[in-house]
Amino acid sequence: MSVLTCKQIEVDFDGFRAVAGVDLSLALGEVHFLIGPNGAGKTTLVDAITGLVKYSGSVVKDGVELRGRKVHHIARAGIGRTFQTAAVFENLTVAQNLDIAAGAGRSAWSLLRRRRHLPEGVVDTMDRIGLAAHADTPAGILAHGQKQWLEIGMLLVGDADVLLLDEPIAGMGPDERETTGRLLHDIAADRAVAVVEHDMDFMRAFASRVTVLHAGAVLASGSVEQVAGDARVQEVYLGTTEKETADAATA
Ligand code: ADP
Ligand code: MG
Repeated sequence: MSVLTCKQIEVDFDGFRAVAGVDLSLALGEVHFLIGPNGAGKTTLVDAITGLVKYSGSVVKDGVELRGRKVHHIARAGIGRTFQTAAVFENLTVAQNLDIAAGAGRSAWSLLRRRRHLPEGVVDTMDRIGLAAHADTPAGILAHGQKQWLEIGMLLVGDADVLLLDEPIAGMGPDERETTGRLLHDIAADRAVAVVEHDMDFMRAFASRVTVLHAGAVLASGSVEQVAGDARVQEVYLGTTEKETADAATA
């Protein structure tokens, strides 16, 4: 079931077309990978959906058109995103970061005051993102991967049901990547998750569906097998053909 439907998204930067008529549909239960070379328009597409850049076309979530809505309105409609650089409150603890993300609308004082009991959603989320043992750790001293998980947790406690994650595993080691991949599938059980990523091994391991962008347009979309077997994808994205890959593997 599609939760978010984008039709013919176009973004122009002073005459340069960064996104050129993209259709994208995100469904519950799927980890949908957006791949493509640097400059393909992946981040700009996420920026458009989340209201950070102007676009033409249509973004509909739960039957509601979101084009032209303000950033905070789109966030409140349940669309959450992360950035290539994690944006957490470095001086606050893991629990405080989650508490703030959970409590949009509560007063700053009630949020920052040391509470006797953390809300259930915050406690559950710390478990889910593997940071239960770090509740009182300042976010600023978390490992790189843990900061990304915290940021994802902040979207979860904020009740986002569409998550757009921009290169979440960049800079992570193999174990952190594996943990992140499993977290994405856990999250996608009752949400739609889109992941912008370069790493082909990670994509093969964890993608339910793949959309390949090239020069602002969709080059191919489908299962990992369909996309990996597409000759244009091999040529444009991998910069190689199946035969060359096979030759390289046996060389
Ligand atoms: P990706 O995330 O796929 O690497 P981006 O969406 O960041 O690609 O960028 C797509 C293209 O749009 C690139 O050519 C980039 O230089 C250009 N671009 C991105 N943001 C801006 C901007 N604010 N002004 C002008 N050009 C931009
Ligand atoms: Mg990008």
